[in-house]
Amino acid sequence: MSTFDPILTRNRTVENATSLHVFESRGGYQALRKALKMTPDEVVEEVKKANLRGRGGAGFPAGVKWGFLPKDRKRTLLCVNADESEPPTFCNRVLMETDPHQLLEGVIIAGYATRAQIAYIYLRVEFHEQFHILQRALDEAYAAGYFGKKVAGSDYALECYIHRGAGAYVCGEETGLIESLEGKRGWPRIKPPFPAIAGLFAQPTVVNNVETLSCVPHIIERGASWFTGIGPAHSTGPKLFCISGPVKKPGCYEQPMTISVRDLIEREELGGGMLPGKRVKAVLPGGASMGVLSADELDMKLDFEDPRKFGLLGLGTAAAVVIDHDTDIRIVLRNLTRFYATESCGQCTQCREGTSWMYKIATRIALGAGRLEDLDIILETARNMGMMPGLSICGLPDGATYPIETLVKKFRPELESAIRSQPKNSAESLLKVLN
Ligand code: SF4
Repeated sequence: MSTFDPILTRNRTVENATSLHVFESRGGYQALRKALKMTPDEVVEEVKKANLRGRGGAGFPAGVKWGFLPKDRKRTLLCVNADESEPPTFCNRVLMETDPHQLLEGVIIAGYATRAQIAYIYLRVEFHEQFHILQRALDEAYAAGYFGKKVAGSDYALECYIHRGAGAYVCGEETGLIESLEGKRGWPRIKPPFPAIAGLFAQPTVVNNVETLSCVPHIIERGASWFTGIGPAHSTGPKLFCISGPVKKPGCYEQPMTISVRDLIEREELGGGMLPGKRVKAVLPGGASMGVLSADELDMKLDFEDPRKFGLLGLGTAAAVVIDHDTDIRIVLRNLTRFYATESCGQCTQCREGTSWMYKIATRIALGAGRLEDLDIILETARNMGMMPGLSICGLPDGATYPIETLVKKFRPELESAIRSQPKNSAESLLKVLN
């Protein structure tokens, strides 16, 4: 099996790589100097040609997103989505704590391409250590003239601020993030208008994820055709994959988007295989929101297209949770529904009530008081909320329904058998749920 030379994580094991002088000694900020010799539109074109798809979950092409900004705009704001609240995802955390200047270089190049005057990094509040690492790097970059009135000696000016969030999953949604940045409750906005037209402080705004922006310097440095040479045509460039659960080497690994879920679990240099005595029962391959695979679907490719063939919403954050054969699927169902019921912001009736109903039904099933018809009721509830049927402001309920629908459909015999046979409300089952 050929090994992949890391690109985004190439500095991960380098001593003191978070400091400016080590980053520069390894070629850092050279892509920025190259970009500043291009016109902003040329930078946008290069990123479009690279087909850099957003790494935050939706997979929307970054260059196309930049192209939505009005041509005659006076101001542009850039927001970096560093909220990373999708369970159990930690790609951005790894990038920020091991190579913060790579992100900052991407921020400046994206800022230059979109003619942004101010960049805001919206950082997940729980990232305490990462905040200090990032702030130190930002201070160093300012002192070296990479931010401020004359970026790297050019006529381009860019200010950058790190804003710490207050801890809400829904602030990973770009308009929820924008509301929170404005100092309000993180409630997603009704769209249109989209942020490119009226975003932060009603100004044209671009929101990009940390990993997406970390790819940008490499595209500028080595060219779009180098980037498109990595992975399939619809899923270009390097990608970070997380894996957690009962595998030998849980962690965050960089690979092209040609690997399968099975590769991620079993390959020696990745997950390293299951722990002794454990077998795969199910996998959530793209964070919690994309849906569930059964053990016979592990050959699904971890790219932007293949997951749909398996009934999933998409690649998501490419953070896989492996569920072992000993796990009671009712507990998985309850944990997932609890998360979304807790995180719904409550604006839309279908989402607020639907996520709570699913949680109540899943709890009833897990406690041993479930009825067979509950499985149909939970599926019907899932089908009647979300952006896809046009019943919600944001995509949270779509992300809530995919794992539930796929879990109930793919593990229905097990759920039915548990409902038929479980003793009702036994102390043992109650304890299992509460643990
Ligand atoms: Fe809030 Fe849910 Fe509506 Fe999104 S869909 S705005 S999370 S209530």
